Amino acid sequence: MSIAPILKAENISKSFGGIHAVSNARIEVPAGSITGLIGPNGAGKTTFFGLLSNFLRPDQGTVQFDGMPIQGKPPHAIAKLGMIRTFQVPRVLSRLSVLENMLLAAQDQAGEKFWNTWFQGKKIANQERENREKARSILESVGLIRMADNYAGSLSGGQRKLLEIARALMTDPKLILLDEPAAGVNPALIEEICSLIHKLNQQGLSFLIIEHNMDVIMSLCDRVWVLAEGHNLADGSPTEIQSDPKVLEAYLGS
Ligand code: ATP
Repeated sequence: MSIAPILKAENISKSFGGIHAVSNARIEVPAGSITGLIGPNGAGKTTFFGLLSNFLRPDQGTVQFDGMPIQGKPPHAIAKLGMIRTFQVPRVLSRLSVLENMLLAAQDQAGEKFWNTWFQGKKIANQERENREKARSILESVGLIRMADNYAGSLSGGQRKLLEIARALMTDPKLILLDEPAAGVNPALIEEICSLIHKLNQQGLSFLIIEHNMDVIMSLCDRVWVLAEGHNLADGSPTEIQSDPKVLEAYLGS
């Protein structure tokens, strides 16, 4: 029996002027899986992420998250439903501390909780304390707690990637779309990031991961989808994909 998809997108297209970045693409991410999205440079992967999470508006297509249509919903509303994305170049605020970056990620949710807690007569200070405790506990679990009071700008490339994942965790996601978690990261930290993803997946979190590092894809993913020139080229297990002549040709051709 196949596992119900937590994310399902069909017929997604996006053009920029005359460039067809994504054409009639589809994807399914089974709940509880680590699914990979690969393809040569310029294949449309990051654009596809933007379309799935509505950072970009598709020209056509449908996206369902957890059985619910989400096209047209703004990214913060999608995050509240449980799907959040990270970026190829981490969007950390360099002049704020690591902990402050974490607290900003909680702000959207806090807005709603503020009124709930107000009406319950709870002090707002309690909410702030809860957020701080949650942020510190997540920083502990991703190995960044020692850096909590450092400027985010002082983090290495790999530590910024960890902070991006940590910030995503502040929203209590069910699915994280990770854009190139290993890019620009030293090998020791790549291993740390991979074991963190594995650990979070064991706890029930699903992932869709764009990555050029095939070792990462092979070691983490249950299933892999391949895009080339904006189209679906193949999907299958990592082993199937690695030996698919169409896929090899697309990479060699690029
Ligand atoms: P990479 O692996 O190099 O990050 P990618 O597979 O993520 O590439 P995209 O960044 O999605 O590919 O780009 C797909 C195509 O769309 C490319 O030809 C790119 O130049 C084009 N493109 C992406 N964003 C824009 C934009 N905002 N305006 C114009 N063209 C764009």
